[in-house]
Amino acid sequence: MHVRDHMLDKPRVLLVTTGGTITMLRGANGSLYPCEDAGKLLEYIPELSMLAEIDILPLASVDSSDITPATWLTIANAVYQRMKEYDGFVVTHGTDTMCYTASALSFMLQELSKPVILTGSQVPLEEIGSDGRSNLINAVRVAISDLAEVAVVFGSLIIRGTRAKKTSVFDMQAFVSVNDVPLGTIGLAIKFSSFAKTRGRRKPMLRTSLNENVALIPVYPGIRPEIIDYIAGIHDGIVLEGYGAGNIPTSGEKSLIPAISSAIARNVPVVVCTQCIVGSTEMELYQVGRAALEAGAIPAMDMTPEATLVKLMWVLGQTDDMGSIESMMQKCFVGELHEVS
Ligand code: ASP
Repeated sequence: MHVRDHMLDKPRVLLVTTGGTITMLRGANGSLYPCEDAGKLLEYIPELSMLAEIDILPLASVDSSDITPATWLTIANAVYQRMKEYDGFVVTHGTDTMCYTASALSFMLQELSKPVILTGSQVPLEEIGSDGRSNLINAVRVAISDLAEVAVVFGSLIIRGTRAKKTSVFDMQAFVSVNDVPLGTIGLAIKFSSFAKTRGRRKPMLRTSLNENVALIPVYPGIRPEIIDYIAGIHDGIVLEGYGAGNIPTSGEKSLIPAISSAIARNVPVVVCTQCIVGSTEMELYQVGRAALEAGAIPAMDMTPEATLVKLMWVLGQTDDMGSIESMMQKCFVGELHEVS
């Protein structure tokens, strides 16, 4: 795949800023807060303009803990509307919820013909030892490459949006690619995997319909079934993070099976993913998983909890038919899961 580092005709990149550590400043009390003037980004990295002609679009200035599904819509709309004007897009974002936003943008912006790259940093750009500078430069390099996907560029990895997971609050390699090899790696050169989608003639689709009334809850030893009843009463969908292969408590008064059955009877789908970072649900493997399956739970297979939550919101934005919900959750739209054949 082609990486254009030195070009006569500079490509155009839109840098969408939303906040996050990369643009944060340290307050008098030592805590980091988002800097309002994201344009400062370019002042710190003048060589960015050697790579591309960059316009900045500040859309938010928040710690990513404060990002909501409404922000995903704003970013997706802004990128889609400007799709023809730019060769690539970079979204700077806090690391804490970057994989939720990356998943959301993956489902909302399909059939891409150019890259939409999310990046951020562990240490603010304005502090010594910041990883923000290299992450941003690499994000722009990938944004002008031949890739045509939503991806997270962080440290030495280029990760498909729906496969990214933050696994470290300390390491500069804060993200990993879950259940799939990365789209690419960044070392002496940028290398892309052969399965990464490349630029081509496609008609990008904006699919922003979303039902954000979905809950994500882990099961844990001693969890009270009333919690599921309550959550099902105020939500339109539930993602349960089961143990291991998608196992949940099924014994005696603590069994979650009656609560799952009654949620489904009320047309509230229950999708079961795994709490493990690596691997897929395999709900027939143990009786405790099979019981949930027989009650009507939908296995999330090898999707991350983040991708599962966002996908259920996106699917419920399009249908409330239980059969369609089940088949859409098990279909691969943007590389979020390996379909079982
Ligand atoms: N709390 C920050 C955020 O997500 C963490 C970071 O950006 O690294 O905005």
